[in-house]
Amino acid sequence: MRILVTGGAGFLGSHLIDRLMEQGHEVLCLDNFYTGNKQNILHWFNHPNFELIRHDITEPIRLEVDQVYHLACPASPVHYQSNPIKTVKTNVLGTINMLGLAKRVKARFFLASTSEVYGDPDVHPQPESYWGNVNCTGIRSCYDEGKRIAETLTYDYHRQHGLEVRVVRIFNTYGPRMLPNDGRVVSNFIVQALRGTPLTIYGDGSQTRSFCYVSDLVEGFLRLMASDHHEPVNIGNPGEYTILELAQKIQQRINPDAQLKFEPLPQDDPKQRQPDITRAKNWLGWEPTVALDDGLTKTIDYFRDRLQLVSA
Ligand code: NAD
Ligand code: UDP
Repeated sequence: MRILVTGGAGFLGSHLIDRLMEQGHEVLCLDNFYTGNKQNILHWFNHPNFELIRHDITEPIRLEVDQVYHLACPASPVHYQSNPIKTVKTNVLGTINMLGLAKRVKARFFLASTSEVYGDPDVHPQPESYWGNVNCTGIRSCYDEGKRIAETLTYDYHRQHGLEVRVVRIFNTYGPRMLPNDGRVVSNFIVQALRGTPLTIYGDGSQTRSFCYVSDLVEGFLRLMASDHHEPVNIGNPGEYTILELAQKIQQRINPDAQLKFEPLPQDDPKQRQPDITRAKNWLGWEPTVALDDGLTKTIDYFRDRLQLVSA
């Protein structure tokens, strides 16, 4: 098949491309390189099945493909909040453009949505049937409301035009190829511990997140795309940790002498998050296989190499 991956030079997109290329598909990687990186896909540059397109999805584009994996959107709060209007445009105009493309060529459309559609949840863990608790005027809303409208658009194209759609709600995912300055918690703590600077805990660290290793997530993507289910599906690892526990784990692993530094909690930071993965288990036969300790080992090794290269 010929498959378009928007945001393909980013963290998740590049891992997805690796799997699609290994399966023998023709892959079109589309990216504007806002948070993406050529390094992530460099190993495919000379492969005849791989094509790179520098393009911003807020502008229309005509391409002939069989499937679209739509991932383009900055995912880290630091990046999506640095130009919030652009984030909204990417989610609204960009998603309309990619849905329009899929409709024109009758391609199956896969939306990378997020656990952020549940906002600061008052139902725990979060099943797909939960409608969420989202502040539509806060600093996170460019992203979480942006993703909610992206879901709305996806289901309107499904109902109005019969488009084949798949929607994944991704919970916090980590692994190699996150940017050292990404701003998300796992990469921040690892990079800080490796550099010997204090680990920055926002608030008192009692808020929770559930961390999924990237290879597990991508396996869930492929299974969902191949399935017959158009309703949203949570993909994430239900292992739930407080941010303080995560900091201590990484501190012990890398540098027990590293300091922990408490900083103000950002506005609307969700207090708890854990996926209910009953749907993924029943519909896709999917569940995570990589324990946090093992995934952290691989991620720490990656950043150790990467930071050495930078300082060399
Ligand atoms: P990332 O920032 O590494 O990747 C996003 C990619 O999209 C980058 O390569 C970036 O350059 C590209 N991009 C951004 N705006 C674009 C535009 N207007 N036009 C073209 N390309 C554009 O983030 P990621 O972690 O790989 O996330 C990928 C997708 O998964 C995003 O849609 C994100 O919302 C979703 N997601 C990720 C997580 C996670 O934990 N990693 C959690 C929930 C949802
Ligand atoms: N966080 C933190 N220190 C950091 C980065 C993040 O304590 O250096 C916290 C952040 O406030 C949030 C959690 O870690 O409570 C997860 O943050 P991240 O940005 O990784 O993801 P999200 O908030 O989007 O789930």
